Amino acid sequence: MNKGLFSEKKKAVIYCRVSTEEQAKEGESLASQERKCKEFAERNGYEVIGKFIEKGESGRNINRTQLQKLLTCCSDKRNEVGAVICLKEDRFARNAKDATATEYMLFKMGIRLLFTSGNNEQTASGKFVRGMNNVIAEFESNVNSERTIAGLAEALSKGRWTRPLRGYSFQKNVEGKKQLFQNEDAPFVKKIFDLAEKGVYSQDEIRRQMEREGFKISKQALSMLLRNTVYCGLLPDKYNKNGGEYIKGIHEPLISEEQFFKVQAILDGRRPNIVPRKRNNPDYPLRGYVYCYDCNTKMTASRSKGHTKHFYYYHCKKPHCNAARVQKKVLENAFKEYLHNLTIPLPIIDLFEKCVITKFNEKTHDITLQKRHIEREIENLESNKSDLIQLSLRKIFDEEDIKKEMDKIKMQIQEKELMLQELANGPDVQACWDFAKNVLLQLDKAWEQGDLNFKQRLQGLIMPAGFTFKENLVKPIKNPYFLSIFQQKTGKNIEKGG
Ligand SMILES: [Zn+2]
Repeated sequence: MNKGLFSEKKKAVIYCRVSTEEQAKEGESLASQERKCKEFAERNGYEVIGKFIEKGESGRNINRTQLQKLLTCCSDKRNEVGAVICLKEDRFARNAKDATATEYMLFKMGIRLLFTSGNNEQTASGKFVRGMNNVIAEFESNVNSERTIAGLAEALSKGRWTRPLRGYSFQKNVEGKKQLFQNEDAPFVKKIFDLAEKGVYSQDEIRRQMEREGFKISKQALSMLLRNTVYCGLLPDKYNKNGGEYIKGIHEPLISEEQFFKVQAILDGRRPNIVPRKRNNPDYPLRGYVYCYDCNTKMTASRSKGHTKHFYYYHCKKPHCNAARVQKKVLENAFKEYLHNLTIPLPIIDLFEKCVITKFNEKTHDITLQKRHIEREIENLESNKSDLIQLSLRKIFDEEDIKKEMDKIKMQIQEKELMLQELANGPDVQACWDFAKNVLLQLDKAWEQGDLNFKQRLQGLIMPAGFTFKENLVKPIKNPYFLSIFQQKTGKNIEKGG
């Protein structure tokens, strides 16, 4: 999971730590730690660009200035640090709370934390925390977006689309609000819809054609672009302000509604075409995670038409494989049942709680700083206001000008006060922790309610190597990444991974 975040940077820094008492012992000495780390780096193709050696002076008061320096070095993008190498976990952190906070920081910077001892993939709990970091990061961005939702909903109900869209740029409209206006990419986007409307090009072919014409677009971006109703002037009613109906956008559409819906029909297979169906289909969350029990090939999914309705299946994609196809419902229910029967030991939950709270304390600190900043600005504006009153009393300037200036300042103060109010509804640790705990304790429900992205992350966290399915049994495929953290309650339909 999350492979994309960790780039192939092959530079590393070394971190060693020893207390005075330990210095004497063979095998723990700094020289030996450093040597082991260097050897490890060499074996794994890392170039060591820095070492940070912590000598515990008194054992009691360890400031760990070297660790701070290491983090500073890592955070400088120019250093291109891809990994931190350390002897083992107890060298790196004194306790779980420290480890979690520091690991989270490295994780956010896309830096691996590697230990030379043991097999290099870290302990199960470390792995788990890293996986859950994904979930927290996701939740965090949800919380942040909720704060601006009120403003976005307001804009949307008035037909203003506020998210970036290829082919358009934002400019101020006559009311001074930001609005979409077509830019130099608009003809390319139009061409994409024209090509798709023909129904004879695959999305890959469209992509290549556009690239030849100088317009680069990723696979996923193209498939999302073709589904985006905003191009024909219809805004999805995301905040339910219009009874779920589309809202008419005030921007100039790139294509007609007619053309847009024709393209949708082609994409959905309601019209003859040779365009392959979208890969990342929310209808089949388990695609790519379930393997054929017979030939070990990744299973794919599709639907077939019955007399009156469609039937959805997962099936092996290897030609001539004898494995039977499985109904979507059957497989997904078995998977949910499997999740339902997983438990997580309480110490892990405790560890995770620490992780969440550390994270949110950081966040709260940031917000306090922001608040203070805004409050100071308000103070400045207030003092400007009283200066202005003084000026007006002395009748040096034109009354009209003073009034204008005064209105401007009052507006600015109002805006800042609104910002303060928004900040006051800051992140709620309890809500975050409840969310996380809910996910952990009710994996099946969390999976069921999550969107495709969340489902795939959770699947990847629990069974990184996927699973097989036979005779109603979900059987995880074990590999070194398989988490031993999740334990199974006894019950039917459950089998230990093997
Ligand atoms: Zn097969």
